[in-house]
Amino acid sequence: MKINSSQKYYDYLIVGAGFAGATLAERLATQLNKKVLIIDKRPHIGGNAYDCLNDAGVLFHLYGPHIFHTNSERIIEYLSNFTEWIPYEHRVLADVDGKLVPVPINLTTINTLYGLNLEADGAEAFLASRAEPVAKIATSEDVVVSKVGRDLYQKFFRGYTRKQWGLDPSELDKTVTARVPTRTTTDDRYFNDTYQCMPTNGYTELFKKMLSHPNIDIMLDTDYFKVKDYIEFQNLIYTGPIDEYFNYCYGKLPYRSLKFEHKTLQQEWFQAVGVVNYPKEETPYTRITEYKHLTGQKHRYTSLTWEYPCADGDPYYPIPRQENHDLYKKYEALAEQTPNVVFLGRLGSYRYYNMDQIVGQALAVFNRLSTS
Ligand code: FAD
Ligand code: UDP
Repeated sequence: MKINSSQKYYDYLIVGAGFAGATLAERLATQLNKKVLIIDKRPHIGGNAYDCLNDAGVLFHLYGPHIFHTNSERIIEYLSNFTEWIPYEHRVLADVDGKLVPVPINLTTINTLYGLNLEADGAEAFLASRAEPVAKIATSEDVVVSKVGRDLYQKFFRGYTRKQWGLDPSELDKTVTARVPTRTTTDDRYFNDTYQCMPTNGYTELFKKMLSHPNIDIMLDTDYFKVKDYIEFQNLIYTGPIDEYFNYCYGKLPYRSLKFEHKTLQQEWFQAVGVVNYPKEETPYTRITEYKHLTGQKHRYTSLTWEYPCADGDPYYPIPRQENHDLYKKYEALAEQTPNVVFLGRLGSYRYYNMDQIVGQALAVFNRLSTS
């Protein structure tokens, strides 16, 4: 096989052009003057954060809605080298009992669903009277019922989670549903983070800037396992699935996948907010996203995505539960014995991380590499 790249020899081969791979490529090339080849088996850079225009010219996210939020000044400062930002505070409604109500559950949610007129302290008392005492909060069921009680748990979390993960919340680590806060105020933002914004020209443009450096070569449509013997490199950064790297020698790590149904409607708007959740177990999709709310784009048409969770397909979500963590630890031990290879990213470290956490992880790996 002939490899079509300008360099013959690379200091680093990076597998995966998502946030993990792109951050390391950028740092190694610009700060340490390393020659880097970054490859991706997909036909584009950006990993799961990739966005593009549809046929009508409306920006959408090919792998579902990606909203940037972080508490880290260091991470927002780093990414600001490659993009400007538009402010965007994400708001989500859920279709519950025939009404569209705010999620995370807040004062408005409680008053609307139960026909009440409570203030914040009344809502706190309301939740406290329904919360179920749980001796040790271990699962995604415990974390919700101990805060809001069984009725709200059933309405918002049980069906959604069973669809999304193919597991009951009682079988999932508490960290999954703990991502969603509960509020007794009228604050209806989905995230609490200090910085909530979207890259002004989209994620793909941000990635193009990160990777545009003479020390960085990019090869797309390129599967590491098909080309590894034809590329000369000293070190490997691997952001694909860790179990695949080791040829599944301990068995497959479970991942959850999604089918995305993208649509363009010839109307200006479809729904009131960026995302509407459909928690009922009978509805086959979990949420509908309307991108113009997120991107701020003005257009007479609108682009939307329906998400249908499924078992087979691209590995989007590592599944947080003890037995999977134990299996990952066996692969991690192998990784530690593999010289000149670093594993990171959502798939390489089998962690349900957001984009900012992935950038933080990659910056930490870079610091380690640059001081070793
Ligand atoms: P990825 O972006 O998955 O990149 C890994 C890349 O490696 C892929 O492009 C893949 O093709 C490539 N690869 C794998 N194997 C090989 C191989 N053998 N050869 C070559 N290339 C290979 N985070 C947020 O902060 N906010 C959100 O709103 C948000 N929404 C999300 C919604 C969905 C539906 C999903 C699935 C994720 C969401 N995330 C969100 C998480 C976000 O996508 C991840 O944190 C981030 O993209 C992970 O970056 P990464 O580089 O680790 O992995
Ligand atoms: N969740 C839920 N109902 C909701 C929103 C979230 O049950 O209306 C649960 C579900 O298990 C989901 C998890 O909380 O997978 C985390 O939600 P988040 O919105 O962070 O999911 P992501 O955007 O990562 O898919």
